[in-house]
Amino acid sequence: MQSYISCESLFREWINMKPHGYILSLGHNRSDEHLKLHHSNCIVLNANIVGHGGNSTVMVCSDSSNELVNWARLNFWNEPHFCEACRPDL
Ligand SMILES: [Zn+2]
Repeated sequence: MQSYISCESLFREWINMKPHGYILSLGHNRSDEHLKLHHSNCIVLNANIVGHGGNSTVMVCSDSSNELVNWARLNFWNEPHFCEACRPDL
């Protein structure tokens, strides 16, 4: 089940609840070139969230990386990039 999160406090709650989940970050302008798939514990993702005050970064969270890839295909007609730091698996 995926959830759509656009604020920092909700995001932190989610990764605490789901340390083995996956996160698709949409970046600040929500364009497909910024679609990136991360593992919940990604240090790059966490560092980015801290730096931006949270409200402008939109993320989709799920237990399943496959679900997020499908979500990106449905909503952006595109494949997400896979983060080089946390290397999420499908
Ligand atoms: Zn990552």
